[in-house]
Amino acid sequence: MEILADLHTHTIASGHAYSTLSENAASAAKKGIKLLGMTDHGPSMPGAPNLYYFGNYSIIPQKLFGVQILAGVEANITSHEGELDIPLRYLVNMDIVLVGLHVICYPGGNSEQNTQAYLKAMSNPYVDIMVHPGRPEFEMDLEKIAYTSAQLGVPIEINNSSLNPEKEGAWSNCQYFARCAAMYGGPIVLGSDAHFWDRVGKLELACELAGESGIKEEQILNCSPERILAYLELRRKNRGLA
Ligand SMILES: [Zn+2]
Ligand SMILES: [Zn+2]
Repeated sequence: MEILADLHTHTIASGHAYSTLSENAASAAKKGIKLLGMTDHGPSMPGAPNLYYFGNYSIIPQKLFGVQILAGVEANITSHEGELDIPLRYLVNMDIVLVGLHVICYPGGNSEQNTQAYLKAMSNPYVDIMVHPGRPEFEMDLEKIAYTSAQLGVPIEINNSSLNPEKEGAWSNCQYFARCAAMYGGPIVLGSDAHFWDRVGKLELACELAGESGIKEEQILNCSPERILAYLELRRKNRGLA
C-alpha cells in the first residue's frame, strides 16, 4: 500500500517539535509524499503557537519543493463537551483540522466522559479528522468511536507514532480500534505525527496494523492525494448545509 499524503506533522512552532515547515516539506518531497499537513498543536498546549500564528496562514505557499501544503492545526479537546481550543473564526480558514485528546489540555475523565468528549468533537462540522484514539492515557469506547465514524463519515487516524514500541499499551488499543474500523468500514487516515523532519511520511507501523486488522485500501483516505482533497472539499461544502 502506497501512502502519498501525510496529514499530521508538527513544526518547531509546536514548542516540542524540532524542524521547520521547509525542512518537513523537503523531507516529504524526498519520500514521494505529494500532500503534507502542517498541523501544529492548538494554543492550550504549553509552548504551542498563539492564535496570531494560525491567523497568518495566507502567507504560506501552496507548494514547497513540489509538495502541496495543507496548513491546519491539531486542536485540543478541552472539556467533556468536546469543546476545542481554537475559535471558529480561525477554524474556517484552515485547510485541515485535526482534533485529539492531550493530557495537559483536557481535564481527564472516565471512559464514558472521554468517549463523549471525542464523539462531540467528531460531530463538529469544522473538524476534519479525529486523531490517535488508541492512546492508553484516555480510556474510551473504541468500538463506539469506530461505529460513529462510519455513520458520520469522519475519518479516524491510525497514528504511527503511537505504535512505537516504547508507548506501552498503545498497540493493543490501536489494534482493537482498527479491527472495529475494519468491521464498520468507516474512513481511516494514517498519520506520522512527525515531530522531526526525518519522521515525515513514516507510516510503516500504521500500514502494518491497518493491513493485519483487515482495513481495506478503499477505507484509507490518504492513499491518494485526490481522495483526501475530495473529502476535504466535500466537508467544507457540507458545512454550509449543517
Ligand atoms: Zn496529538
Ligand atoms: Zn500531533
